[in-house]
Amino acid sequence: MAGFVIVNARLLDLEAGVLRGGASLRTEGDKIVEVAEGGREIAAGDGVTVIDAGGRTLMPGLIDAHVHAALTTMDFAALARRQTSWRAIETKYILEGMLARGFTTVRDAGGLDPGIANALDRGLVKGPRVFRSGRVLSQTGGHGDSDLPQESPQLCACSIRSSYFSHVADGPDAVRKAAREELKSGAHQIKVMAGGGVATPSDPIDMVQYTEEEIRAAVEEARARRTYAFAHAYIPEAIERAVRAGVRSIEHGNLIDAASARAMAQAGCYLVPTLVTYDQIAETGKQLRFPSESLRKLGEVLHAGVGAVEIALEAGVKVGFGTDLLGETHPAQSKELLLRAQVQSNADVLRSATLVNAELLQRQGQLGELAPGAFADLLLVDGDPLADLNVLCGQGERIDLIMRGGVPAKNAL
Ligand code: ZN
Ligand code: ZN
Repeated sequence: MAGFVIVNARLLDLEAGVLRGGASLRTEGDKIVEVAEGGREIAAGDGVTVIDAGGRTLMPGLIDAHVHAALTTMDFAALARRQTSWRAIETKYILEGMLARGFTTVRDAGGLDPGIANALDRGLVKGPRVFRSGRVLSQTGGHGDSDLPQESPQLCACSIRSSYFSHVADGPDAVRKAAREELKSGAHQIKVMAGGGVATPSDPIDMVQYTEEEIRAAVEEARARRTYAFAHAYIPEAIERAVRAGVRSIEHGNLIDAASARAMAQAGCYLVPTLVTYDQIAETGKQLRFPSESLRKLGEVLHAGVGAVEIALEAGVKVGFGTDLLGETHPAQSKELLLRAQVQSNADVLRSATLVNAELLQRQGQLGELAPGAFADLLLVDGDPLADLNVLCGQGERIDLIMRGGVPAKNAL
């Protein structure tokens, strides 16, 4: 079977947090089949292409566990009017930008439909591997309800209202039905909104959303499909409720306290911080027409993010890696690495974006590491990311080879 042999690389061993010279790696089809160290040579058989890494760093592709590839502008009023074809083409460019920055896997946290996933599978979009959450589940007046409050609302007996981004579903039965619908359409996991959020018009940040029973309905349906549900939450009460209901990860968690962090650690629940999105909304939100009421809410979470990561780490919570960028701000994706390095070592930041995220996605041994049997999702980087994370920043300028599933998406060597 055709494949590649990469020789003369410095292997980034993330378990040990060191770089080791004289490494080679062989791929076959979409997998890694052999890794050799200490200058041991790997024989290149027929039909195999040899790539000389020239001493560059060989590392697993990065994983971003919280993106919204289909939220293509921060101007939500404009987004709602945009044709689906326009949004689809913008989404293609957003996904291709992610892969160019070295993110070979992403978990879409809401809004990406099966059509884009099909286009990715067929190679029409040169993007990362995507784990789709489909439409998010939210209560009326929750963080997935983008409708403005009405002066005289026309309520009907039906308890589910759907858009391309969400099912607004009230009551455990409606949540169950909405979760089943998304899983039927191929969602890899289910996302629920468990508390107030920044980008929606009618829910304060300190609000708790969904009853434990409603969240548990989504968790049960996901588990029945051998997958999991995860939750957006900022405040301790919302975090603890979602953890009790059995979610696999808490997204953002900016206002976490020691008690809710302990509850997460005890339950084995992951935290996925998304520091860069607040940084970017603060920097560019006003000019990019991010809704003004949302800008007012931003202040409540903006400066708490870094401290939240510290509280979680102290309690022993497994901390993954996410970004949650919207529309025009996607080029800032890799800046999350630098923001996280304020409270973690470079090696730990890289572990979060590879090993920890792979475990969160239930793909341990397949993603986030360079070992026989894992997918050949890898990077060759000009520089040492353990010493300086900037080599992974920008738009992937210093990443000379990006391979996804054994296929080079970029090869500058
Ligand atoms: Zn969120
Ligand atoms: Zn999000």
